[in-house]
Amino acid sequence: MNEYDSNRIYDIAKKINYKKTKNIEHADCYILNTCHIREKATDKVYHDIGRLKKIFKGKKKPIVIITGCVAQAEGDILLKNEKYIDAILGPQSYHLLYETLSNIEKKINKLNFTEFDVNEKFDNLNSIKNSCNDVSSFLTVQEGCNKFCKFCVVPYTRGPEFSRSIDELFNECNDLVKNGVKEITLLGQNVNAYYHQGNKLSKLIEKISSIKKLERIRYTTSHPLDFTEDLIEAHKNFKKLMPHIHLPIQSGSDKILKQMNRKHTTKEYLDIIYKLKKNNSEIKFSSDFIIGYPGETDKDFEETLKLLNEVKYINSYSFIFSPRPGTPSANMAKVDYNVAKERLVIFQRIAEEIKINYRKSLFNKIGSVLFENRMKNNLDFFGRDQFSNSIVVKTNKNLKGKIKSVKITGGNQNTLFGEIDDVPEKEIFAA
Ligand code: SAM
Ligand code: SF4
Repeated sequence: MNEYDSNRIYDIAKKINYKKTKNIEHADCYILNTCHIREKATDKVYHDIGRLKKIFKGKKKPIVIITGCVAQAEGDILLKNEKYIDAILGPQSYHLLYETLSNIEKKINKLNFTEFDVNEKFDNLNSIKNSCNDVSSFLTVQEGCNKFCKFCVVPYTRGPEFSRSIDELFNECNDLVKNGVKEITLLGQNVNAYYHQGNKLSKLIEKISSIKKLERIRYTTSHPLDFTEDLIEAHKNFKKLMPHIHLPIQSGSDKILKQMNRKHTTKEYLDIIYKLKKNNSEIKFSSDFIIGYPGETDKDFEETLKLLNEVKYINSYSFIFSPRPGTPSANMAKVDYNVAKERLVIFQRIAEEIKINYRKSLFNKIGSVLFENRMKNNLDFFGRDQFSNSIVVKTNKNLKGKIKSVKITGGNQNTLFGEIDDVPEKEIFAA
């Protein structure tokens, strides 16, 4: 979501004649968009500013604005501690960039905008065209969260759940497709909680499916509690919807899920997975896990491993529990760090084995790859298959925006290698 926000912040800045630069030392204005989900986020801000100070030593200081969730959560402290910062803009206030910049230029005062006016933000953004012209683009459809998992800062930094209207999203999708975008990933902290005037996420998917030149639709991140039947059915009904779902579970222990306030059990979670697979046996899953949550015993951890082995996620993102100030679990008794670390190592080893086996199972099979860009070495072209696997082929052709059948010939941990195959689209399958 920060990537979408950063692009939109740039769209606003562009309106007032700012341009992107790859050379930091040329910047008149430096906007640091931040994430607060795990610890050290604030340290990173101070570290980055230290780097800026060195770059601009003896030169005119650039305007420095901190945006995103660190700005929301710790804006006052940042402004007080770091005089190099000119303004703070929370994630629901970045539409105020224009006023902020002109106030700074007029030396009016230090600014701290951290209101939760999401309606106003999107009203403003809707009048500024989304200029993203990448092959694959993000589109924020829902923001915020009402679920209050005990470990998480999102309900405090992004505010309550909010969904944009289906019409404004359809218009933005159309603009993106006109720019050359072929794949859109619908975004939300709980994207499947999307609900606007009776329309759920499945309706939005149906609506944007009708955009002719839009080839692929994805959505992330889903919450198990919001996985309703209509969305499960959507995976049967809409061909453009890709068969890869990121569905975080956090832990395989019902005891820990309860203590986290996740409000569902592992059985309920697995039921969703099996229903989806019944509708579309191709579907693959990825997930997030928190290891060493307060109260996690060896038995709870074993249950997490059992779930990992059962679902066989093609990607698993795992982190040691990070106590976030202001959240209920920050004050709970922690699992010994060394124990948590040991569990993380075991978890990641097994998750990696599953991933490697999955990748090997793709060798000599044909995937359908949407190509995005030529790689820096100038020899290879980069794209993604239906399951978001990164695929690289050697070619001197410009494949940007094209979908091709690719035979997988090999791969490493992060990338699969392949060659263009002439199999007709309808015969494509993947393990
Ligand atoms: N809304 C999604 C859900 O509930 O499934 C997840 C969104 S959250 C912004 C992204 C991920 O960050 C979570 O799935 C969780 O694994 C991780 N996360 C959030 N708070 C954390 C914490 N305090 N410590 C470690 N990981 C955390
Ligand atoms: Fe955070 Fe997701 Fe829980 Fe909301 S549902 S509080 S975003 S982890």
